Amino acid sequence: MDNIDQNKPSQFPESGRGCGGQSDIRSGLVRIIYSSVPLTLIAVLANSVVLSIVQWGVIAHTTILAWFGVTNGLSLVRLGLYLKFRKLGAEEEVPVFWAHLALLISAASGLTWGAVAIWLFPENDYVHQVFTAFVIAGMCAGAVTTLSPMLSSAFAFILCAMLPVIVRFFQEGTDVNYAMAAMAFLFAMMVLSTSRKLNYTIRESLLLRHERVLAEERIQYQAHYDSLTQLPNRRLLIGRLKQEIARSVRHKHIGAVLFLDLDHFKTINDSLGHTVGDALLKQVALRLNQRMRDEDTAARLGGDEFIILLSEVGDGTDEAMDNVMNLADKILHLFDMPFYIDGHELHVTVSIGIALFPLIESSTEQLLQKSDVAMYEAKKAGRNTIRIFLPEMQRTVDSRRSTEKGLHRALAEGELELYYQPQVDADNNIIGLEALLRWNHPVRGIIAPEEFIEIAEKTGLIVQIGDWVISTACKHLSQISANSELMMCINVSPRQFGESSFVDKLNNVVSETGVNPENIQLEITEGMVLRDIETAIDRMQKLKSAGFSLSIDDFGTGYSSLAYLKRFPVDILKIDRSFVLDIDKDENDAVIVDAIIAMARHMKIDIVAEGVETKQALDFLLSRGCRKFQGYIFGRPMPFNKLLSRFSEIKKSSHRTNVINIRSLMNE
Ligand code: C2E
Ligand code: CA
Ligand code: CA
Repeated sequence: MDNIDQNKPSQFPESGRGCGGQSDIRSGLVRIIYSSVPLTLIAVLANSVVLSIVQWGVIAHTTILAWFGVTNGLSLVRLGLYLKFRKLGAEEEVPVFWAHLALLISAASGLTWGAVAIWLFPENDYVHQVFTAFVIAGMCAGAVTTLSPMLSSAFAFILCAMLPVIVRFFQEGTDVNYAMAAMAFLFAMMVLSTSRKLNYTIRESLLLRHERVLAEERIQYQAHYDSLTQLPNRRLLIGRLKQEIARSVRHKHIGAVLFLDLDHFKTINDSLGHTVGDALLKQVALRLNQRMRDEDTAARLGGDEFIILLSEVGDGTDEAMDNVMNLADKILHLFDMPFYIDGHELHVTVSIGIALFPLIESSTEQLLQKSDVAMYEAKKAGRNTIRIFLPEMQRTVDSRRSTEKGLHRALAEGELELYYQPQVDADNNIIGLEALLRWNHPVRGIIAPEEFIEIAEKTGLIVQIGDWVISTACKHLSQISANSELMMCINVSPRQFGESSFVDKLNNVVSETGVNPENIQLEITEGMVLRDIETAIDRMQKLKSAGFSLSIDDFGTGYSSLAYLKRFPVDILKIDRSFVLDIDKDENDAVIVDAIIAMARHMKIDIVAEGVETKQALDFLLSRGCRKFQGYIFGRPMPFNKLLSRFSEIKKSSHRTNVINIRSLMNE
């Protein structure tokens, strides 16, 4: 992996036959020509010596010596060029200049052999004439093998060498000479055509080799780069990280891993589509990469997760912390400018988790995991922020892990329990019960759902837990509702709701337990319907036609729900408790609740206010027309057994059996 340029992404060249491919092949051809120079020079020397000796008796000595000098002088020049050419790097592209030079030299060399037919060609001496022709033909045959990679060079040599001898035979004027001229001509044609064929074969084989190299490079590239963003992928990152950790230990400096996760990317993907999501990831990659120093790496782990590997941020811990925070801050600010995609102006932020090495950790996987933990802390702190990994964070992770493991056991060993919190109307009569999960942990005692629901959701165990909640709540309802008409409110998690078998499962439970679906209200959150609106609406409609009622839980905390709310067949909005808790003190909360109530009334949707703790809050809500409540002022969630025994006591002593006042339930 190390022979790949790891820093800057570049689109992999798609076509091997493009300009890059052509110049590679040209370079290859020129290299072959120059590689055969030594062999050629030996042939030139041997032939010129033999020719000079043989012609010594029939040609003037000065002519022979002059020709010998010029021919081998040229050889010396070729030797010099050859030595210079060898200094080019093996992978380097050969400049065109060398190709031109090869053509020139081939022509010059061809001329020296052509000159033989002019100056070393004795008149009226057939034997010596045939001998010269033989030598020239031999040189041409040799040139075919050494010069064919460049057809122009081969042709230049052969024509310059053969034409004079053909003309010369012709000039001699005898029948035999004419025949010799014709033979020489035929021979030249043959050599030229052989040269062409050879040239074609060599080019093809170079092209094949070039394509194989390209294919190998492409495979290498795909194995190490992310195809969407062209950034290094996890594999390349891990290799790089290993090297950097080793280097930091050796040179005693500190490096950093920055774990970046885009905030609310899912919402963008879900509401605007994957094409926009992908385009956003590409633009993010581009912004990140433009800001990297050459020695640093920006990589994509997958989804909306990116890693920035900073090879060196300082020598001491304080210095490293300062520097890395500054850098991370700059990265946060890279997101100040909106992204423009397909006519959308997207304001995106990012949460960053940092882990330093080799301080905190020197194993690559652990380091990534720790930066992930820190990133998670940044999300918890409200997103669009930075957190550095601290050992305390590990404890949170460990406890999450043990929760995760424990949950399996909880489900199998019956450690889960449902508590019930009443919902009341303006006359203090109980109109419903919300089923709320508790975990009776053998060591830790009762654990609130906030500590484990999210983990169960992440691991998928929520589906089994949710099934258990639904069937238990229905059983309980059938035990208490013999003569009362209470609404059983059941929380449904996103994963559960997303299951295609959800509606069927519910119908089964209802028919098994014999409860009336009209007494069951499913609480869903805005977020879960937004993921795939059409499917969600379809599912909601199926539930409605099966008789269930639906409420939107935690209303006001989701994102872009208002536009869709009209299309959701819901009966109730539950105003989130965060707005209700301080409603009489916080003006903003009061305004929001006012708006929600007005909107719900307009849309003819009922309202339940959650988290009513004080008389003041209750009065405020009453004054704004809210008529249904849930909160500690009326009653906290209680175990089923307690609820059941209170109900039967009340029923024994009361004549109005289907209305229970909250005061009698709470024993006031
Ligand atoms: P939620 O659905 O919003 O449930 C209401 C939460 O508000 C409950 O917390 C309840 O105890 C609390 N609450 C009620 N009245 C008051 C009040 O006056 N003041 C304050 N401060 N809090 C009040 P709980 O039982 O801890 O449940 C927390 C969350 O856990 C629930 O919020 C719900 O999102 C989730 N959850 C609970 N049970 C289940 C379940 O069976 N399945 C799923 N998927 N989630 C559940
Ligand atoms: Ca709820
Ligand atoms: Ca709620």
